[in-house]
Amino acid sequence: MSRQTISGKPNRHTPTSSATSTQDLAGLFECPVCFDYVLPPILQCQSGHLVCSSCRPKLSCCPTCRGPLGNIRNLAMEKVASTVMFPCKYASAGCPVTLLHTEKPDHEEICDFRPYSCPCPGSSCKWQGSLDAVMPHLTHAHKSITTLQGEDIVFLATDINLPGAVDWVMMQSCFGHNFMLVLEKQEKYDGHQQFFAIVQLIGTRKQAENFAYRLELNGHRRRLTWEATPRSIHEGVASAISSSDCLVFDTNIARLFADNGNLGINVTISTC
Ligand SMILES: [Zn+2]
Ligand SMILES: [Zn+2]
Ligand SMILES: [Zn+2]
Ligand SMILES: [Zn+2]
Repeated sequence: MSRQTISGKPNRHTPTSSATSTQDLAGLFECPVCFDYVLPPILQCQSGHLVCSSCRPKLSCCPTCRGPLGNIRNLAMEKVASTVMFPCKYASAGCPVTLLHTEKPDHEEICDFRPYSCPCPGSSCKWQGSLDAVMPHLTHAHKSITTLQGEDIVFLATDINLPGAVDWVMMQSCFGHNFMLVLEKQEKYDGHQQFFAIVQLIGTRKQAENFAYRLELNGHRRRLTWEATPRSIHEGVASAISSSDCLVFDTNIARLFADNGNLGINVTISTC
């Protein structure tokens, strides 16, 4: 996870302000190593310096005074920490929100200012950037992904009998937006394989709410349909797949609809 320097540090050289603002208070909790906040449980060195809990295990002495780190808990600071409004981790990217430290993680997970990660399934690509930069990244770094134009297309997954975990990815462009179609094969247990198909919008959660998608397996006098709201790439598809909030089917069903090991999934995107 990338750490960022939080703007709005207290200015220690001008002790003119009479009242201590919330932001000054938050600054007192700044870790001297990573500039993230030191949050409960708060441990201090023998001279009282603080360091955050993610930096602490990597250190052999206090980064401020080089003294031993010890194991001294600072309960007073912990009490103060629970009343201070901390700026969001993405304040430097423009987020104006301040919150209690207990509310910070939930907000930061959905914060609009959090950088976007590469939407390609599997975690091999570590790219992060702004929403505007996602499409240029995909066209430059993932050249093998094909794009089809139109709101009604066929996502053809070839060689679905390939062993092990496999991902199929395609882009669909319609309504002035780009959607990423993902078919993922996972080995659940003892060779029992499951397929997960889902659509994500290259856009924000708000934008995704304007669309619906339908995935349909159709053929040999059978039909299997799934309809839902596309995910935003800001939330990604991993949690939807792990909770089966997508089109889910096993290898038997895949075989019922496949032709020569190739599976065609009809994808329809509509506005709502
Ligand atoms: Zn730290
Ligand atoms: Zn120290
Ligand atoms: Zn935020
Ligand atoms: Zn990437």
